[in-house]
Amino acid sequence: MVTRQHETHHDEFNPWLRVASLIEQAGHILELDDGLIQRIVTPERILEVSIPVRRDNGKVDVFTGWRIQHDSSRGPGKGGIRFHQSVNVDEIAALSADMSVKCAVVNIPYGGAKGGVKVDPDTLSRDELERLTRRYAFAIAPMIGPDRDIPAPDINTDPQVMSWIMDTVSMLRGHSMPGVVTGKPLAIGGSFGHAGATSLGVTICTLGLLKQRGLSPEGQRVVIQGFGKVGGPLIKLLTDRGMKVVGLADIHGAIHVPTGIDAHRMSDHFGEAHTIIGYPGAEEVAPDAFFTIPSDIAIPAALGGVVDEKVASTMTASMMVEAANGPTTGEGASILAERGIPVVPDVLANAGGVVASYFEWAQDMQGFMWEHELFTKRLEKFMQEAFDSVWVRHQQLGLELRDTALVVGVERIAEATKLRGLFP
Ligand code: GLU
Repeated sequence: MVTRQHETHHDEFNPWLRVASLIEQAGHILELDDGLIQRIVTPERILEVSIPVRRDNGKVDVFTGWRIQHDSSRGPGKGGIRFHQSVNVDEIAALSADMSVKCAVVNIPYGGAKGGVKVDPDTLSRDELERLTRRYAFAIAPMIGPDRDIPAPDINTDPQVMSWIMDTVSMLRGHSMPGVVTGKPLAIGGSFGHAGATSLGVTICTLGLLKQRGLSPEGQRVVIQGFGKVGGPLIKLLTDRGMKVVGLADIHGAIHVPTGIDAHRMSDHFGEAHTIIGYPGAEEVAPDAFFTIPSDIAIPAALGGVVDEKVASTMTASMMVEAANGPTTGEGASILAERGIPVVPDVLANAGGVVASYFEWAQDMQGFMWEHELFTKRLEKFMQEAFDSVWVRHQQLGLELRDTALVVGVERIAEATKLRGLFP
């Protein structure tokens, strides 16, 4: 069961309580009645599964996984699956609620869901990873499907993992089912443009924020925490538009490059070294001092809860765009607000990934592939419209961007919930 308010100590960061209180607050701003707010906050369905995996040495280890459907009033559940040693039910519940809001903010016909397995995938061989994925997919199979709940990649999961899930569910149902997951390889119903879509959405939001503040992207110094699926492609996207990536961090450490990181050189270096550390000309910085690197725009693109009180008070950037899910704690957010640092929140900034998933799913359902240009054009349009609608509302309401995005999302979920009524 997810943690309730009275069960936690105030000083521990609990992502579920944070998201639940943000949704409640948006409900109060919208003057929704309490029963409706509780319906929107509370996850619809929580499944916890045990995943026995035969190791290569013949022994069996048992892992725990979850799939949570948070809200289905606007459509089937949608959201990624993460494999990480820190995964727990509160984190997955928080992320599933974020997905409900995110899908509503970008106005795609989905509810929110999320899944995860508590495992450090670096400790698994490829065969063990496949067995874990297939057994997890089997365990959550009754809950997922193209018109029910559609998983996608998230932290430490990729197109290969999606292929195994798609195959496992297809085998169980007796027919090929490409629409059951998104973020698949092209050869089995994936889509042009899915890889890098989150980063493109982050770029559109960064440009949108700069424009609204009357600033040119030229020469803006950016620090990106994370060099994975989202942080990786961002370097090229931002530098192509005149910005300068002066700081980068990965799990091995952090670097400062005042002249700016070149995307191609970094990818060559990373290809050989498997870490960003050692990039030519870079000065290494302590990971906990990363956001103090002199910069204009901070982009957390790794794990949740990193921008806490301390990071928020010492951050040098004057703007932040959340590429990660839930990177900012409640205290962190209050300090950034006090310091007048605008933050484009995760549910808007990183929504390019799920919009791309929606396009992939639509193509699978239709059995008709779109060309790459059409995909990119539509992705840009969805993200621009979402940014603009949150910005207009932000000006009308005078709220922080995060609270505004929550209001926009919760309002749409509430409308769908009211229209559908209460069963039975
Ligand atoms: N994991 C991504 C997210 O957090 C994508 C989810 C999806 O495409 O369903 O938004």
